[in-house]
Amino acid sequence: MSIREDVSTPRRTKEIIQRHGFSFKKSLGQNFLIDQNILGKIVAAAGLDDTKGALEIGPGIGALTEKLAQEAGKVTAVEIDQRLLPILEEVLEPYSHVNVIHGDVLKLDLQALFAAEFGGVNGVSVVANLPYYVTTPILMKLLEEKLPLEHIVVMIQKEVAERMAAAPGGKDYGSLSIAVQYYSVPELICTVPHSVFIPQPNVESAVIRLTVRKTPAVAVKDEAFFFEVVQSSFAQRRKTISNNLKSRFFPKEGRERLEQLLEEAGIQPTRRAETLSLDEFAKLSDTLLNAGLKELRV
Ligand code: SAM
Repeated sequence: MSIREDVSTPRRTKEIIQRHGFSFKKSLGQNFLIDQNILGKIVAAAGLDDTKGALEIGPGIGALTEKLAQEAGKVTAVEIDQRLLPILEEVLEPYSHVNVIHGDVLKLDLQALFAAEFGGVNGVSVVANLPYYVTTPILMKLLEEKLPLEHIVVMIQKEVAERMAAAPGGKDYGSLSIAVQYYSVPELICTVPHSVFIPQPNVESAVIRLTVRKTPAVAVKDEAFFFEVVQSSFAQRRKTISNNLKSRFFPKEGRERLEQLLEEAGIQPTRRAETLSLDEFAKLSDTLLNAGLKELRV
């Protein structure tokens, strides 16, 4: 039992905000958590212990940061809003293993941050209630930079979480599902009611855990080209894969050649992109690459 009242109780949150004259900025996605149960679920999903590190993006007034500090051996939190720094200093004063960095996570050199902050720990996870306006850029930056991460446990918009975790065949499956699943294994942990935030967001929320893969889900010869093929295949969802790829890779050439290559990759030209698995996209991108299509694209 902590002697102090947790920052995240509604009473203490309101008291801190009032005393510091803090006003919420919608443009920074500021919806703070005031529910012990949800905070507990987020932290538990990260599987932390005192040998592990946690990187938090957007600590706000430190509700989640305080819970992370009670579990992890080292906590580093990156906050863009300078007005929150004195509050964080006050709230996190008892925890010498917590470091707050003022900055925009999208502009930071995360490799350098990891080297500086997490030298002695046995694995790092990102744990955050993310600002919803930049969820995808933040998650893609974390995944694409191939940081040495164990888990990414984040509160995000429910609809985005469902797209990230979607399996082939449904309306939620698309290039975001493929990008996330290429680098990680996503699992929906729980959906979250509006009442756990102040102010309440006007979209539904969910907690998702991405377990970062040591090597990508599929082996491809050219990663950038693989993602180009995926993007082009989903260009117009209602079109067949053959029609979508034709406009990108075969504007002048005959459809016959494209259909031949699709068949070679084991894909019926009349299928839609949303039915293809990661393995099938990998096969397709390598087949198009081997056929010299990278040079022909428009
Ligand atoms: N973690 C706190 C909580 O759960 O109560 C606050 C979460 S709030 C949804 C998002 C936080 O991210 C805000 O504190 C906001 O100022 C911060 N933020 C927004 N954009 C950011 C960025 N690009 N880099 C770092 N922090 C950012």
